[in-house]
Amino acid sequence: MTKHFHHYSDSGRIESAINDLASMTEPGRPFTRLVFSSEYKQARTWLWSRFEAAGLKCHIDDGGNLIGTRKAMSDAATSQKIIIGSHIDTVSAGGRFDGVAGVIAGLETIHFLNKHGIDLPVDIEIVDFLGEELNVWGTSCLGSRHMAGLLCADILSQTDQDDRQLAEEIVKIGGSGKPTLVPRHDAQSIIACLELHIEQSNRLESGQIDIGVVTDIPGINRYSICVTGKAGHSGTTLMQGRKDALVTASIIVTMIRDLAQDISGQDNRHFVATIGRIEVYPNGAAVVPGEVKMIMDLRASHKHSRDLFLDRLQSAYTEISHRESCSIKMELISAAEVAPMNETLRLHLARSADELGLSHINVSSGAGHDMAHMSRIAPAAMIFIPCQDGLSHCPEEFTTTEAIAKGSAVLTRSVLTLAGRDF
Ligand SMILES: [Zn+2]
Repeated sequence: MTKHFHHYSDSGRIESAINDLASMTEPGRPFTRLVFSSEYKQARTWLWSRFEAAGLKCHIDDGGNLIGTRKAMSDAATSQKIIIGSHIDTVSAGGRFDGVAGVIAGLETIHFLNKHGIDLPVDIEIVDFLGEELNVWGTSCLGSRHMAGLLCADILSQTDQDDRQLAEEIVKIGGSGKPTLVPRHDAQSIIACLELHIEQSNRLESGQIDIGVVTDIPGINRYSICVTGKAGHSGTTLMQGRKDALVTASIIVTMIRDLAQDISGQDNRHFVATIGRIEVYPNGAAVVPGEVKMIMDLRASHKHSRDLFLDRLQSAYTEISHRESCSIKMELISAAEVAPMNETLRLHLARSADELGLSHINVSSGAGHDMAHMSRIAPAAMIFIPCQDGLSHCPEEFTTTEAIAKGSAVLTRSVLTLAGRDF
């Protein structure tokens, strides 16, 4: 058997699958397939039929995940499993490849096994994880949280602006809508969870590298920052002695950028900090801003960088607060620890790429993924493929069929060696 990546998938089938799913979008706002929407349900039905056509036995688990299973050969001595998965929901006006590429690549692995009549001593599950993207209920990665036992009642009881409760939506899609506080009952038998995903950054493309072997999914911490000054008439409040909360907030925003730049340059590890949301009170054209609320999003592949950043931020606050006569209060609103990817699996992925003659580098993920949650209960790893200009979560998001085929070949070869079949 030749080890050229072309032999591991069918590029025509990959392309038509991508196009089929892209057509299932909210009309007038490509590419929008929000979790639980009618487009999403249509895509689920489509995927179910694709799974069945590949011989997979389909079911929806209690968490609303669509799972297609290829059973181990009948005389298999163990009940081990390999999970390959990603997601088919999108953000609003998102792209065609984020998540989709991984599900389609997993399906190509199944087609390869079928085509060559390869029976494996392990079950393979192709999973479309429910609602990976951040939704109006405020929680991402619903399906993987369920599998990892991290879907609590608090999350499920959230309602959106139309009073739709998250739990009820999960029931409508075939799940139980009940909290899951323990990992999947068969977690011990999962020997690998693998996900192929577009990189959503431009390190691979700019280095002309085929494959990124993900080292970790960074910890994500969000903080609310509240700056309180004193509101006043914009015409009569003299410049001297003002307590302008927005001016103070703007100093904080640029300071956070500078501190983060400094720290990310220091140790070459992934570290980013962003203020992406800001509210000004009272937000009037003729009023000195009295209060500003912001949210800071911190992502670090190493706890040390985060702690160092927070330390420096605290002392900067003291100085700014004194100088600008405004109070600054920061509170942690959500925290997820860094999720390192399994080292043995990473070696498998790198070796598979080598065997196929594909170039590869180690990359930190930057974005959150279902594998962060899966890594808490089983060995997990990710394959990144290049995407054009690093663009993602926008309609311009693009990767080539060839890039998907290369990633898919790495996936398939890794599955074969993990299952003890050096094909
Ligand atoms: Zn994604």
